[in-house]
Amino acid sequence: MERRLEIVPVNEWDLFPQGQPLVIAGPCSAESEIQVMETARRIKSLGVNVFRAGIWKPRTHPNTFEGIGTPGLKWLQRVKHELGMKICTEVASERHVFDCLKYGVDMVWLGARTTANPFLVQEIAEALRDVDIPVLVKNPVSPDLDLWVGALERLNQVGVKKIGVIHRGFSTFDKIKYRNSPEWQIAVELRSRYPQLPFFCDPSHMAGSTEYIEEISQRSLDLGLDGLMIETHCDPSCALSDARQQLTPEQLGELLGRLVVRNQDSDNVEYKENIDQLRAQIDVIDDNILYILASRMKISRKIGEYKKKNNIAILQTSRWDSVLEKVMAKGAEYGLSEKFVTTLFNAIHDASVQEQNAILGSSSQEGK
Ligand code: PEP
Ligand code: MN
Repeated sequence: MERRLEIVPVNEWDLFPQGQPLVIAGPCSAESEIQVMETARRIKSLGVNVFRAGIWKPRTHPNTFEGIGTPGLKWLQRVKHELGMKICTEVASERHVFDCLKYGVDMVWLGARTTANPFLVQEIAEALRDVDIPVLVKNPVSPDLDLWVGALERLNQVGVKKIGVIHRGFSTFDKIKYRNSPEWQIAVELRSRYPQLPFFCDPSHMAGSTEYIEEISQRSLDLGLDGLMIETHCDPSCALSDARQQLTPEQLGELLGRLVVRNQDSDNVEYKENIDQLRAQIDVIDDNILYILASRMKISRKIGEYKKKNNIAILQTSRWDSVLEKVMAKGAEYGLSEKFVTTLFNAIHDASVQEQNAILGSSSQEGK
């Protein structure tokens, strides 16, 4: 079910300077007053105005640096007062929220592990009742869009309307190039459900390593996301947490300079006419695809009836292997990737098998 969210647009948050994209930068963790001030000063000189630093750190293993805790909020307050920057940090409990409010924190975010826990989200939401600061919600560690939206709803229900999200990727057991899997389709789905929802990407936690931060940042902008949260440290090699993924402020400046910001739309008449024509063509092709799929399914149902009459099992793997082989060769000829063709045809095949199963009136032939 589509749920409504009341959202205050990000340009009314009074946090980000005008201009695209919106950038939040700062160290994974506040480690010392010198590190915080030095990092913030160098970030500020890039024109970035929103400073992040973790005060309480949810670490995977015990006996690692779990954040400096409440005393670090005084350093953030210095960043705010001396450099005029806006300050934000992660909260994971009611107490964190109260401490942040005491020290004038301008925005808070819920970390991935917190979003995954409705009890904590509710507790934090209650602490934020009647408070007007913006709250960003990172995706939960598992790729569960409803859990993510549920956290937004809990905040919305207590009156927090300056809400936004941060996509930082999802945990996987498989070894992948990045620390957390982007699963961009989830971001795209959330974006299309709530187009007004301020949407950030955190390429640092998604990448897990500095070498992939730029490609992820560019991808985010290409998808039309609003901004980036990038971990930045005055001396990353000495960082007490997430050392591999933090940029120096100067590297951040270079990266921001290289990013290509795409327009959401254009007033150019020629562009509009061309894009409208191309979209009309796509619409016709999509209709055809559906018609062809429906025709295929009709035949598949006939085959199902026929198999039933002759008491034949639904699945003949050798037949399916040869279909896949054929479509993959054909797909390659048409310049379609192997991954796309297999995903598409496996989906078509699964739907056919399900229809034939229904015809047979038995679940004994389920799946592949
Ligand atoms: C962080 O931003 O430092 C952090 C802990 O992020 P996440 O919740 O995405 O792991
Ligand atoms: Mn971090």
